[in-house]
Amino acid sequence: MDINADVIVAGAGPAGAIAAYELAVQGIRVLLLEKSVFPRYKVCGAGLTHKILREIPFDLSGIIETTIYDIRFSTHFKEVFHRTSATPMIYCTMREKFDAFLLEKAVSAGVKVLFGEPVTDVFQTNRFVEVQTRNGVFRSALLIGADGATSRISRKAGLHGNIMQGMAWEAEIKTDHASLKNFSQTVFLDWGTFPGGYGWVFPKNDHFSMGVGGPATLSKYMIPYYQRFLKYLETGNGIPDQGPTLRVLETISLKAWPIPVRMQKSVFHQGRILVTGDAGGLTDPLTGEGIYYAVRSGKLAAMACADYLQGRSGSLGKYSESVNQELMTELLEANRIKNLFNTVPRKIHHLVRDHNRVWMAFGKILRGERWYADVKNGFGRWKFLWNVSCLISKWISNHRERNYQKHEATEEG
Ligand SMILES: Cc1cc2nc3c(=O)[nH]c(=O)nc-3n(C[C@H](O)[C@H](O)[C@H](O)COP(=O)(O)OP(=O)(O)OC[C@H]3O[C@@H](n4cnc5c(N)ncnc54)[C@H](O)[C@@H]3O)c2cc1C
Repeated sequence: MDINADVIVAGAGPAGAIAAYELAVQGIRVLLLEKSVFPRYKVCGAGLTHKILREIPFDLSGIIETTIYDIRFSTHFKEVFHRTSATPMIYCTMREKFDAFLLEKAVSAGVKVLFGEPVTDVFQTNRFVEVQTRNGVFRSALLIGADGATSRISRKAGLHGNIMQGMAWEAEIKTDHASLKNFSQTVFLDWGTFPGGYGWVFPKNDHFSMGVGGPATLSKYMIPYYQRFLKYLETGNGIPDQGPTLRVLETISLKAWPIPVRMQKSVFHQGRILVTGDAGGLTDPLTGEGIYYAVRSGKLAAMACADYLQGRSGSLGKYSESVNQELMTELLEANRIKNLFNTVPRKIHHLVRDHNRVWMAFGKILRGERWYADVKNGFGRWKFLWNVSCLISKWISNHRERNYQKHEATEEG
């Protein structure tokens, strides 16, 4: 049987599309196998942090619907305040547009795409990888698994360990003209209410995307939290001049999808197979942000494949090294900050409200001007204090999540 491509990429989300594009522009033959048919709806807030713009080599202005300068914070739907930034913090799009746009760039660079081709099985020999789909069998020198949170390739290659499952619900909310006009540059963020999670609203061209997320172990409590959040948004909780009032005309879809979070530095390749983005569990445990990490890991995977195919490297080991060094270092720090937040959520809510420096640091991290790791480095020779606080807060945070389950179970009983 002939080889169909130098590299097969499975999955045409941001990780797969960028990896495919980066390879094709170097003259490498790429076949992209995608389960669905594009454009397709994707459960996602589709908030792009400013740092993504640096990674994507195209002008995204045509697909960005709104730009966020303002965040309205609440905790337990109270203590509402808002903070603004002179520079954009988040760009909102819709995933069917964003993903189709990236894929179009990959196709223009020479990538061959087959839609409706879910990968069902994978085998590798010392010469090639064989990829089975519902409709056929394809061979290539290398395979990039970019098949998302439920990745079959990650499991087949034994690369799915050390992943903690998060979960998020998301809905598209039809609203009226006045609500859209009032909040076109505003994100609503309720945090510290749901342990290890939060609720958010992103404005889009003609509606709002709204969601809640947290650890999958608490998934059954998410819909009640979602409903309370929605009520708060509609009524402002009766707080004069503070609470938002969004008009909710219709909920178009309310769906859940996993958010896989890698908990340790790991191996992200096996033989001729690499996993990227959600398939690798590369999401931010604090915010649930995954698009940046999908794009970045897609680019690192493309770099490792090109080096291997063009004879600059004898294995794909460099890929795991760079993912661990660059992305996992950051994501593990995010997890420590998440634990700290879970331990003293109101304190952090107040710090963001009352201290410009804290708010500025928050903005700089969103924009990619600072990294989570800089928080620890900021402690200088007192770093050990930070490390001890993180250890204690890990214990408290786990305890809070377990207690929430018990508390809610008692309430239900
Ligand atoms: C409710 C919710 C809200 C979120 N909001 C945000 C946000 O605002 N900002 C942010 O940065 N991140 C957000 N995320 C995370 C973000 O959606 C993911 O991290 C991101 O989509 C990962 O990109 P990816 O390319 O790795 O995978 P995906 O985008 O999931 O793409 C995977 C692709 O693979 C295809 N596929 C699946 N299985 C197969 C198969 N067997 N064979 C072939 N193809 C296959 C799928 O059809 C899909 O097209 C959110 C997640 C959730 C659940």
